[in-house]
Amino acid sequence: MSMTEETTPAVGIDLGTTYSAVAYLDETGRPITLVNAEGDLVTPSVVLFEGNQAVVGKEALKAIATEAEHVAQCAKRELGERTFHKNLQGRKYPPEALQAFVLNKLRQDATRQIGDFRKVVITVPAYFDEVRRKATQDAGYMAGFEVLDIINEPTAAAIAHGFLKGFLNRKGESNAPRKLLVYDLGGGTFDVTVMEIRGREFLALATDGDVQLGGQDWDQRLIDYVAEEFIRTYQLDPREDPNTAGRLWRECEDAKRTLSARGKVSISCDYKSQAVRVEVTREKFEEITQDLLNRTQFTTKQTLQAAGLSWSDLDYVLLVGGSTRMPMVAKMLRTMSGKEPDASVAVDEAVAHGAALHAGILLAKSRGEIPLVNITNVNSHSLGVVATDTRTERKRNAILIPRNTTLPVTAKRVFRTQKAGQKSILVRIVEGESASPEDCSQIGKCVVRDLPPDLPAQTPIDVRFQYQENGRLTVQVSVANTSRELKHEITRENSLTAEQLEAWRLYVTGQPVSDPEPSGIADDLTIVIEEDE
Ligand code: ADP
Ligand code: MG
Repeated sequence: MSMTEETTPAVGIDLGTTYSAVAYLDETGRPITLVNAEGDLVTPSVVLFEGNQAVVGKEALKAIATEAEHVAQCAKRELGERTFHKNLQGRKYPPEALQAFVLNKLRQDATRQIGDFRKVVITVPAYFDEVRRKATQDAGYMAGFEVLDIINEPTAAAIAHGFLKGFLNRKGESNAPRKLLVYDLGGGTFDVTVMEIRGREFLALATDGDVQLGGQDWDQRLIDYVAEEFIRTYQLDPREDPNTAGRLWRECEDAKRTLSARGKVSISCDYKSQAVRVEVTREKFEEITQDLLNRTQFTTKQTLQAAGLSWSDLDYVLLVGGSTRMPMVAKMLRTMSGKEPDASVAVDEAVAHGAALHAGILLAKSRGEIPLVNITNVNSHSLGVVATDTRTERKRNAILIPRNTTLPVTAKRVFRTQKAGQKSILVRIVEGESASPEDCSQIGKCVVRDLPPDLPAQTPIDVRFQYQENGRLTVQVSVANTSRELKHEITRENSLTAEQLEAWRLYVTGQPVSDPEPSGIADDLTIVIEEDE
């Protein structure tokens, strides 16, 4: 029996750096988190390679203490890189392929409960750039999904919250506009977004974050604290052995959770037949991690400012992410905002619930129904091209779309050819805030070739960017007084080719294995844009 649109379940996936969650909408349209095969609501985003098998989740997480060298974790942090930093059983993996193994496990476990399904919405941090969004979409494809959309985690959390609080009713009737701040501190990333909900519109006003800050940094402080005690006692560093380090990490992560509920905890560590037991109070823990919290505080203030708001303009502050269970987080936000932070939607389920609600909206739209809510996003990084400043002769980042612009957007800027008789034009597209191109990341380039001879210097070149809501960028270049015009959707430079995606999809989902290596790793692709007829 083929699946009809009617029976296609609305499924949303929170593909986290450290933990992932899946939710679907039940018959009444309510989001429900699906438990995995182990019976847990969240699945560690960790992959263990064992012989020919990839084991995902709790078991893989445990293996960090015994066979750390075969374990891949935090691949999300490396999305956009060509390969994961670590070889696994002698093999290189693109980070998105590791993400695909996680997604495949989620798909299999969910299928046992809601039957076969393909269509999903996957979430990403709002701070993710174009490159990482595309990689996430590719991971979904490799795991056997049809990715309906990629949405921002804070937007998803706000949707889930709005639904729970009932201001998104069935008819989508508008209440008074609401402004909120989403503070999401997970395992590996920190994300803060200021949003406005106007009736059915979800509008992100400003977004910022830190892709290298999360609960693991809090873990690391505990690890270092214990290790230093060990060194003082035995002149030995337990962190030097991967398995001991792995075991210590698990101990410390556990202790951190305990400290969210209790005033003190003791952590033991043994290495080379020596052992220490270290007692840590919540006060001590907060002291040794204060600077990490301060970093999130700083970014939060800045984001509020970027949105042009002050604390009194906000209706509420939403807590998202497992690390917001640490009492120091709510304490800091309470003091700073004068509001009681809201954790009414479970902090580690909110994002998946919002993704499922968004999937429901998209499926309803495709059936011709009127959607419950609309989502409006902003871009999190400025997009520009590299141009030479004629006065200084220096290369600079000429921004076409500043950050925090509401999407979709089209922007145009006119540049000029450098010299007379120029044969071709190189347009390098960069993402970033800095005026100097070296500090930005190049996301693609296009070359306009075969310009007519005798083209005078200073001939105008129109560069047009079209940036869609899902973060895809189309670049159009036209040269005045010529028929030269190019249009191309930017593909990231480290991207896998269609054939490679296909091969990985077969490999990950366990269908007839076609070995994706070594050709499974993309070469550095240069984007040369074909000319439009
Ligand atoms: P991500 O979305 O980045 O994968 P999650 O939102 O699932 O992350 O949060 C995972 C992080 O939350 C981990 O670092 C974990 O240690 C931390 N965490 C989970 N529960 C608690 C708790 N009770 N106290 C402190 N930290 C917690
Ligand atoms: Mg998360």
